[in-house]
Amino acid sequence: KLENATAKAELGRASWKLMHTMMARFPDAPTPDDSLALQTYIQLFARLYPCGDCASHFQLLLQEYPPQTSSRNAAAGWACYVHNEVNKRLKKELFDCSKIGDFYDCGCGEDGKNGK
Ligand code: FAD
Repeated sequence: KLENATAKAELGRASWKLMHTMMARFPDAPTPDDSLALQTYIQLFARLYPCGDCASHFQLLLQEYPPQTSSRNAAAGWACYVHNEVNKRLKKELFDCSKIGDFYDCGCGEDGKNGK
């Protein structure tokens, strides 16, 4: 089947959006189980990502820059960093990770102890 760059880009935007929004909602002080869950999620995401080329590259990135899951800040900073590594490879503009603060809002209101 022919490559469809529009669909591939759309999948990428949706995936990054979910990834960064998840980081923005990760606990400030995660339990070891929370951290393990996020580690596992990221590893499986990298393994199962539907674009095979993207997945291979991303798995190599994870080896070089292991996921940081000790806090919300660490996780959000890590995700911003690796997304920028992908941006570099695709010759895209880099995102200023110091501005990631409230950029990703899940819109879910006060729905739990980590609600904003
Ligand atoms: P995207 O990169 O999708 O970003 C969406 C929005 O997120 C931007 O508009 C900006 O507001 C914000 N943003 C940008 N950088 C950051 C950052 N560092 N941190 C937080 N927010 C940011 N495409 C390929 O062609 N080849 C690949 O090998 C490839 N690998 C990928 C691997 C993964 C794991 C993922 C999730 C996607 C991959 N993609 C790949 C898709 C690619 O990264 C883009 O999603 C796609 O090209 C659309 O790009 P975009 O310019 O709309 O912005």
